[in-house]
Amino acid sequence: MSQRLYGSLNSRSRGMRLLWGLFFSSGIAVIAYRRRSLDKSGVVGAIASGTSIFGMGGWSWGLSLIYFFVSSSLLSHFRQGDKASAAADKFSKGARRDLAQAAANGGLATFFAIIYGLTRSPRTRRLAQAGFMGALATANADTWATELGVLSASQPRLITTGRPVAPGTSGGITLLGTAASSLGAYSLGFFFRAWQGFRTSLAPAPLVALISGMAGSFFDSVLGATVQAMYYCPLCETETERRIHRCGTPTQPLRGIAWMNNDAVNFLATACGSVVAMAYCQRANLLSIHLPITGSR
Ligand SMILES: [Zn+2]
Repeated sequence: MSQRLYGSLNSRSRGMRLLWGLFFSSGIAVIAYRRRSLDKSGVVGAIASGTSIFGMGGWSWGLSLIYFFVSSSLLSHFRQGDKASAAADKFSKGARRDLAQAAANGGLATFFAIIYGLTRSPRTRRLAQAGFMGALATANADTWATELGVLSASQPRLITTGRPVAPGTSGGITLLGTAASSLGAYSLGFFFRAWQGFRTSLAPAPLVALISGMAGSFFDSVLGATVQAMYYCPLCETETERRIHRCGTPTQPLRGIAWMNNDAVNFLATACGSVVAMAYCQRANLLSIHLPITGSR
């Protein structure tokens, strides 16, 4: 996008941005629905979240959300057949995202965009921007790790004990998944900064995204290995996140806390990413490092 076009788009009112946000997110949500990446409730969540983030945050915020959404949808359809045979039982939901999943991954990012849009305090805006990036970097890191890690040739190991586990098991990590996770986090920060036009030379946005996204993703795996609710299907004699197994049999509680499903774990992981990113930026700010947290783009 040329600087002039960017500038003219940027100078529009928030109302214009809200309209653009509504336009983009509706378009993407409808395509995602047709491609079976979202169900109907997920479409509602994606439009609400997309419109708020575009309107209250700005272009770089909205484009980062689109990057997260499009890359994770593409990855979740990537080699779907292989994944279905490797780990179908382990996932509580299919590739189609519903409202709870959209809220678990994008809810906190939306919250920070709204705070950013409503406040005038530079400090609060800086923290909101860091929180947004930490939440979205975590969601992106996690999704990439899940979608690509399950294709790993080597067997995953539980993050807590190192015990080998079946592919797709919550809390199981692989080298491939960890690499995917770091790339997902870093690239989110890179694009977020790129879409702000690389305005500041010292801007460590990709670094903040990498650190916070990896921290959030790590926390996700720890929760998955410890407190996430897992069930056991007596018929298939297998572990699953589902309460009703795909074979139709009601499952038995195996471990974890009943309400701690995959969505709750994802939400807490994005919260961890936000806190880490905000803490990092707060600290860097105290050390007077100039951060890319300016402007209303
Ligand atoms: Zn079963």
